Amino acid sequence: NKRIKIKALLEDDHLGQSVTVMGWVRTKRSNKNVSFIAINDGSTIKNFQVVADPNQISEDILKKASTGACLKVQGQIVASQGSGQSSELVAQNIEILGEADPDTYPLQPKKHSLEFLREIAHLRIRTNTFGAVFRVRHALAFAVHKYFNDKGFFYIHTPIITASDAEGAGETFKVTTLDLKNPPKTEDGKIDFKADFFERETNLTVSGQLEGELAAMGLGEIYTFGPTFRAENSNTARHLAEFWMIEPEMAFYDAEDNQNLAEEFLKYVISYALENCKDDLDFLDKRAAEEEVSKPADQRNELGLLDRLKFVAENEFQRLTYTEAIEILKNSNQNKKKKFQYLVEKWGVDLQSEHERYLVEKHFKKPVILTDYPKEIKAFYMRQNEDGKTVAAMDILFPGIGEIVGGSQREERLELLVNRMKEMHIPTEEMWWYLDTRRFGATPHAGFGLGFERLVQFVTGMGNIRDVIAFPRTPGHAEF
Ligand code: ATP
Ligand code: MG
Ligand code: MG
Ligand code: MG
Repeated sequence: NKRIKIKALLEDDHLGQSVTVMGWVRTKRSNKNVSFIAINDGSTIKNFQVVADPNQISEDILKKASTGACLKVQGQIVASQGSGQSSELVAQNIEILGEADPDTYPLQPKKHSLEFLREIAHLRIRTNTFGAVFRVRHALAFAVHKYFNDKGFFYIHTPIITASDAEGAGETFKVTTLDLKNPPKTEDGKIDFKADFFERETNLTVSGQLEGELAAMGLGEIYTFGPTFRAENSNTARHLAEFWMIEPEMAFYDAEDNQNLAEEFLKYVISYALENCKDDLDFLDKRAAEEEVSKPADQRNELGLLDRLKFVAENEFQRLTYTEAIEILKNSNQNKKKKFQYLVEKWGVDLQSEHERYLVEKHFKKPVILTDYPKEIKAFYMRQNEDGKTVAAMDILFPGIGEIVGGSQREERLELLVNRMKEMHIPTEEMWWYLDTRRFGATPHAGFGLGFERLVQFVTGMGNIRDVIAFPRTPGHAEF
């Protein structure tokens, strides 16, 4: 009489069998003749109905089998009388594994707000919404590895602690073993990082790209999939201080190969979720539809969640350059109200998320691959174009999300790279190891970074990035 998961119970015919099911009580309905207890064990969004006869199961046990309690139920699978589910479990014995006091258990069967659930991130995983989100997140992570593995890419683990700030954005978390209340000092009174564990200043990685490039120069095609850390001060719905990034890096790829890979990859993982997460996505689709109603009319999605996913999986992304995008924004209706005015006045400024979303959601109504950005607003390692003004960058913009991917063809020409680094005040001596890949056997190569949580947001339809990672790290929040 082994434990069986609810997912397996629902998939095959177990009529007449004696089984043991364990799970948490979601709801209980009782009258004096019978109790119906819906339990969930996390294997699927669906609950399984336990039928308990008060002549068989003691009053005390039935009382303790309240919402949130954990049960071990042993009994027989029979055909269900009611609608909804074809079979149910008639309990011969119920053991209470863990009680949950109805007066203090926070997750009573009613609709809780996402804000409230964020305060109890340690318990919210037990709700339908978060169960669905984390099962979909798992499926997407698996699909990422499957896609790259099937294409012959190698998974590389890049370091979490580094001495470089790849983006030069200065949003790093410092790592030190020094006692900062009483640090060792150099003769001129500064903190002596020579006395630190690594004998230098270090920080948590903001991107695995630079190390990824080194690996691609030996293995050809690689990807990383690891945590990255940015001390973002912005409290937005799409930034976390700790997020997971997928970063493929490929020797012998040019900018167009890079765009093709990114588009194929995104379509693959979205299709994978559509095929493998049907029950969870059906639930999230209904949930998203309910949320739509509470949004202002001009912010509502034209398509429901499932239709959005299918649309992205099946249709070509729009490709255009930054300069073309600026023209569209200039001539847009929005700009009649001078909303996008500052873009018109000066070519070369970065797009804000309102511009990105206008292009994707109002103008093209599909994902957009924006290429060839002004070099001033992009990182030093991007390959310079012939025009001397732009670099071979690409950002992929998604409806409801904005930027989901940032990538580029990398600058493989030593002299041009060194000059660009000097212009941007990046110390070339310290980066000798990076420049060695341009000194010895340099080749055209390219890559991109996909923020995994933004992908999970898109696929689950969750509006806030805090709701697609189990334990979000944001300003002021690191308790659990
Ligand atoms: P943004 O403009 O949204 O701040 P970025 O241009 O700073 O993003 P990149 O350095 O290009 O980000 O990183 C690659 C990808 O990582 C982004 O396209 C995005 O999907 C994701 N990303 C970046 N910062 C964050 C963050 N703080 N939280 C979650 N995902 C992020
Ligand atoms: Mg940023
Ligand atoms: Mg950006
Ligand atoms: Mg970017």
